[in-house]
Amino acid sequence: MLKYLLVVLSESSTSFCHYESKPGKGLPKDLIPLKSLENAVTFALKNNLKVNVLYPARKLGQAYEDLIEGVDHVKIVPFAARERYPEAILVIESSDFPAAGELRNLRGGNIIFRLRRPALPKLSACLGRLLPHAKRINLVLTDVEKYGPGEFAEYRRQLETVSARLQAMSARKTPPELNVLTDRLVLGKMNNCDAGLSHLTVAPNGRLYLCPAFYYDSPDETLGEIRNDVPIGNRQLLELKYAPICRICDAYHCKRCVFLNRALTLELNTPSYQQCRLSHIEREASRLHLQKLKAAGGSSAVLADIPEIAYDDPFDVVAANKQSIAEFKKL
Ligand code: SF4
Repeated sequence: MLKYLLVVLSESSTSFCHYESKPGKGLPKDLIPLKSLENAVTFALKNNLKVNVLYPARKLGQAYEDLIEGVDHVKIVPFAARERYPEAILVIESSDFPAAGELRNLRGGNIIFRLRRPALPKLSACLGRLLPHAKRINLVLTDVEKYGPGEFAEYRRQLETVSARLQAMSARKTPPELNVLTDRLVLGKMNNCDAGLSHLTVAPNGRLYLCPAFYYDSPDETLGEIRNDVPIGNRQLLELKYAPICRICDAYHCKRCVFLNRALTLELNTPSYQQCRLSHIEREASRLHLQKLKAAGGSSAVLADIPEIAYDDPFDVVAANKQSIAEFKKL
């Protein structure tokens, strides 16, 4: 069931996820037409959808701002626009990391931190600077396709250091959350992105897509105009029960990104080994993080332990379990 709508206001709107947005040629050319934005707002109001709006760094006209204010929404804005939208979720890029003075005035809100692969060795240092200013940080790794054994080992080391930083802050009244270390602690089932199932995207051309990544990657692959009963070909491939690897997995915090699935394995329902390995590094780091929190006492004592597992890629389990594959073929 659709729960929310993503609206990409401009070609150069900030990315909030694994994809890269593409700078447009400049307003008003690369901006969603006002009429299309109006259609998106009306669609959201009629279907009781929340709206997540992806902003560019530069200013919008007042007519745009007024339309957006007419619907329940969340603003996701690049760091450069933070002063214009102080309540927004901020996107910070590792390639453009703010100076200490620029972070000082943040009000402890939600931050999306997009980490590029060359900055991986600086992950813990960057988070050490952001966490004191945030209520929650969503870490997004970009360039996932380039990750290999060296990066996996480095990511494991970095998360260990970040875990220690979070533990040092755990006595605070509201300690900050970090998706890749604290989400799995409280999840009892999959909490995936669910693009195409729980949300759709309106792109700057006014048309619908599974998510912004599909628009930037291949704008011709549109789901069409904004309307009810959007035709999604092979929709079942977006569902967990048709994903033979993911449905036996308990890395519940994983986004199960269907865009990366398709880009890296050519199958919407099959993740690449990089995605599975990274999610399992996070799962194991979360397990150890929880153990340490429990040992230190406090409210984490009531949380269920995360079981230790003997694999770091559930594909190994699927490959060894012929019955599970046979069941999948019957679906
Ligand atoms: S499918 Fe979901 S997780 Fe993947 S890029 Fe799109 S919004 Fe992000």
